Amino acid sequence: MTENYDLHCHSTASDGALSPTAVVQRAHECGVTSLALTDHDTVSGLNEAQAAADTAGIKLIPGIELSTSWQNKCFHIVGLGIDPAYPPLAEATRNLQTMRIERAEKIAAKLEKKRIPGALEAVKKAAGDGMITRTHFADFLLSQFHVSTQQEAFDRYLGAGKAAFVPTTWSDMELAVSWITGSGGVAVLAHPLRYKLTASWMKRLLAAFKEAGGQGIEVVTGRYNSDEIKLVAGYATRFELTGSVGSDFHNPANQWVELGRLAPLPESIKPVWELLN
Ligand code: AMP
Ligand code: MN
Ligand code: MN
Ligand code: MN
Repeated sequence: MTENYDLHCHSTASDGALSPTAVVQRAHECGVTSLALTDHDTVSGLNEAQAAADTAGIKLIPGIELSTSWQNKCFHIVGLGIDPAYPPLAEATRNLQTMRIERAEKIAAKLEKKRIPGALEAVKKAAGDGMITRTHFADFLLSQFHVSTQQEAFDRYLGAGKAAFVPTTWSDMELAVSWITGSGGVAVLAHPLRYKLTASWMKRLLAAFKEAGGQGIEVVTGRYNSDEIKLVAGYATRFELTGSVGSDFHNPANQWVELGRLAPLPESIKPVWELLN
């Protein structure tokens, strides 16, 4: 049987639309044989996902996507093969949950100033026990007809510099990498082209990431074209990083992104799964 890896996706433990069980079942239906659930700043979906993976007969790689800051910019670092019980990592997720609640209060206050009340109650209800994210705010703005697409919610209210944007200092990038590696996991730079870095910034970031113990970079994600894959593969080679593949699946309503529907990793790139026992 050919292996099919998808090493980046979300459930209702953060801003995904499907429960951990439903994500695993859908991955299985889509032909994924090894799935990493990588919710934003939380491991709370992993137990349920593991049980579903046992039932479905697919391999679950315990993961997380940490929100980090480096040089005042936000970068997402995926941890693969982590031990969710590793105390520094567990403590970090508790702190990040508090930060996210405090940020949500500030976002809601800014929306209120724009005469959009009720956001905090709505996002708390929607997130439940999971992490509150800007996706929840986008869904709220959509449901109240303040915007007509999720993208518009980010463009008008939630994106950097927009009316309800709250600048946040996340976990220090180097520290976040150390929590992942300290727990026995592999740290992977998520969706490297989404940060819109110049080549020189990208090289500085990758040098710092590598120095901190980072070992992988997402060479293939849900929406990269072949030129973009080549570009990132070049960085992987230059910085001797393994390559990861992950859809960043959030919601089946997004027809452009599906679990396991990914281009193959270029053959010149060492796969990150060779580092995962
Ligand atoms: P947060 O981690 O709370 O800042 O929320 C970030 C999440 O918002 C990302 O993980 C994406 O799922 C989502 N997101 C960010 N930018 C956009 C965008 N332009 N359109 C739709 N979703 C976005
Ligand atoms: Mn997200
Ligand atoms: Mn991300
Ligand atoms: Mn993600």
